[in-house]
Amino acid sequence: MLVHICCAVDSHYFLQKLHEAYPDEKLTGYFYDPNIHPYSEYRLRLLDVQRSCKKLGIDLIEGEYDYEGWIEAVRGLENEPEKGLRCDFCFDNRLESTARKAAELGEAKITTTLLTSPKKSLDQLREAGRVMQEKYGVEFVAPDFRVKGGTQEQFAMAKEEKLYHQDYCGCLYALTMQRDQQRRLADELFSPLSGQIQPESIEDRIALYTRRMALEDEGKKYKIVREKFLNYRLLRAYVKRGGEVIPSYLLPYSTLKRKFTKFRIVDKIEDIYFTNREDIVILPLFLFNKLIGKTYNNIQDIIKNPPTFDAEMTARSKIIYNFFSLTPVVVLEDIDQNEPHQLYLDAHIYEDVREYLATFS
Ligand code: SF4
Repeated sequence: MLVHICCAVDSHYFLQKLHEAYPDEKLTGYFYDPNIHPYSEYRLRLLDVQRSCKKLGIDLIEGEYDYEGWIEAVRGLENEPEKGLRCDFCFDNRLESTARKAAELGEAKITTTLLTSPKKSLDQLREAGRVMQEKYGVEFVAPDFRVKGGTQEQFAMAKEEKLYHQDYCGCLYALTMQRDQQRRLADELFSPLSGQIQPESIEDRIALYTRRMALEDEGKKYKIVREKFLNYRLLRAYVKRGGEVIPSYLLPYSTLKRKFTKFRIVDKIEDIYFTNREDIVILPLFLFNKLIGKTYNNIQDIIKNPPTFDAEMTARSKIIYNFFSLTPVVVLEDIDQNEPHQLYLDAHIYEDVREYLATFS
């Protein structure tokens, strides 16, 4: 039987129940989810599914990430709510690919782990499966493992197995709608041009889940610890002088009361420059290099090969002594104390939860 897999939280439980219900079937997993956005989130969910399948001894096939094809399939349905018409087309898209793959592999039956997701409509899924059954001549198997406490058992298992528990269904449209309702920044959709890994970003989680797989391979005991913190995202910033944008780089946790201010550089103490507005601090590039232990020649160099977020925080803490400071710290290539400057800075600070790996000695 070819089993379409959506995520590890659903598949880890579903595959075990399916094996109990169909002990004579050889189960093969098929990860085909081009609905998942952004691509990094797709990689993260795949990574966890690979780990789950490895634990269960199930072969896994990765389908194509045909994002354009999926966008085309749901065109015009962008504003539909979850369980609405867009989901019908999304299920059709994924089950059609599964049915085709099954036909190609000579498999007689297909199913999907979406059937165990409490947020999905069983009727919608069964209808999509029925259509594919007629079209491709493969039997669509649709068990309901959610009944008789199945959902509770599934979540207990997910916790026990430390599976990655995503908090949105997958597509761009559901994500933006959900974040709007929650009045939360959709930080999944931001990644800096520099490629620097931001705290509690999807890339940060991929690094963590990759490390934990390595720990498991080495047989080391670990715990995923969660902690509340104030997160930060820089959305856009620039500095202007003489009407021109000049090269600049902002350290994390730089914020302005409003998004725009004019300032002048008025004082210099031990190579640090101070301004007359919003306590903005200016660092010459050489001092930034010294604080961070690098030899950048210009701002472009920093953007092409940025230090880590934590290294920037360490540099910041060497010149700003208040641990909770939100002072804007701006690195400039050249300093001009005669000309007025303008700073545009749009940044977001928000409560978040970060995970880290603690290993037992
Ligand atoms: S909400 Fe989920 S099921 Fe519906 S279209 Fe988006 S990804 Fe597909």
